[in-house]
Amino acid sequence: MLAPDTVPTSALVRARRHLHRHPELSLAEYETAKYVADALAPLGLDALRTDVGKTGVLGTLAGGRPGPVTLLRADMDALPIAELNDVDYASDRAGVMHACGHDGHVSILLAAARTLAERRAEVAGTLVFCFQPAEEGYAGAQLMIDDGALENPHVDRTFALHLYTGLDVGKIGIRDGPFFASSDRFTLRIKGKGGHGAMPQTSIDPVVASAHFVTMVQTIVSREVAPKDPAVFTIGKISAGTTFNAIPDEAELMGTVRAFDEQVRRSIPERMERILRGLCEAMRVSYDLDYVFAYPPTVNDAAMNDVVRRVGRDVVGEHEMVDPHDIVTWAEDMSFMQEQRPGAYFIVGARGGESTSYPHHNARFDIDERALEVGYRMMVGLGLAGA
Ligand SMILES: [Zn+2]
Ligand SMILES: [Zn+2]
Repeated sequence: MLAPDTVPTSALVRARRHLHRHPELSLAEYETAKYVADALAPLGLDALRTDVGKTGVLGTLAGGRPGPVTLLRADMDALPIAELNDVDYASDRAGVMHACGHDGHVSILLAAARTLAERRAEVAGTLVFCFQPAEEGYAGAQLMIDDGALENPHVDRTFALHLYTGLDVGKIGIRDGPFFASSDRFTLRIKGKGGHGAMPQTSIDPVVASAHFVTMVQTIVSREVAPKDPAVFTIGKISAGTTFNAIPDEAELMGTVRAFDEQVRRSIPERMERILRGLCEAMRVSYDLDYVFAYPPTVNDAAMNDVVRRVGRDVVGEHEMVDPHDIVTWAEDMSFMQEQRPGAYFIVGARGGESTSYPHHNARFDIDERALEVGYRMMVGLGLAGA
C-alpha cells in the first residue's frame, strides 16, 4: 500500500486541481469536455467522439489481443455549491464546486487512458473511455446511451468508481448485488376548497388532509415492504396557504423514494395511490400525483465484481477490500448502463484526515489526493484484465 506521506504530485494531481479550479454544472461541461478531448487526442486512439449525450466524450482503444469490449466510465459534472475551502486550487467560479470528487474521476481516467494507450499491445479486447456529463440528477449516462455509447463497438461490460471520503484512503469498497439504491421522486397536490379559517365547515381543508397523508404513507415502508428489502420514503417539502386565518385551496408535497429491489421500487406509486384514494373518501379532497422514476438501483454483476476484486487485491491488498455499509441509499446513473450490460461499481477511499472527512456535497468537501493513484491503478488494472 501507499506510504502515508506519498502524495503523487504527478499529472494526476495537476489535472484534478485544474478541473477543481474550473468546475462546470451538469450538461454545461464544455470546457471539461474540451480538456478531456485535448488530452485524449494525442494518444492515437482508434476513435474519439465528442458531444455524446450533449457534452460527453468517448475514446475507443483496440488492444493487441482479442477480448471483450470494456467501458470505463468517469463522470464530469460539478454542483451548484459555493466552495468554502481555502486552498490554491479552490473553485474560481462563484457558486459552482466539485464537491463530489468528479474532478478526481476525470483525472484518474485520463491518466489510465494514457497508460493503457502506451500498453495497448497488452490490452485484451477493446476499451471505451467514457467521460460522462450530468451525473448529479440529470441522467447523463442515459443521454449517452441514447446517443449510442454502448454500441459501435458493442460494449460487453462496464466498470466505474467513485472516490469516497467516508472510507480511508487505501481501501476499496465493493459489494455483490445492489450497490446503490434507486432514486425516484414525486410531486403531489392535495386539493380541497379554500375559505375563512373561522368557518371550516364551508371549506375542504387540504392542510389537515396532508398531515394525515404524511403519517399514513409511512406505513408503506414500515408495514407493507419486507424488512429484508430496505426502502426510504421521505417527504422533503410541504407548502400550503398564505396566512393564519385562511384555509388554502391546495397543498403541495414533494418527496423522494429509495429502494434496492426493482419490484418494491415499481410498487410504490400504486401503494401511494391506494392510500390517496382512501384519503379522498375520508377527507373529501382530490389529488394529482406526478411520480417520476428517475435512477434505478445500481446492481453489480457477480462476475464483474470478481474482476474488480482480482485487480483490487493487487492494488490495495485483500484486507483493504471492504463492504461499504454506510452509503447504500446514494443513487447513481451508472445504473442505466448496468441495467443493459454486466458491470461493477466500486468506491475508492479518499479520507486521509480531518480536512478530507467532509461528506460529499458539503462546501468543504475535499479528497486525499493519494486516492487518485489508487483509482488510477484500479482503472489500469481493469483495462488490462481481459476476459
Ligand atoms: Zn454527487
Ligand atoms: Zn458523485
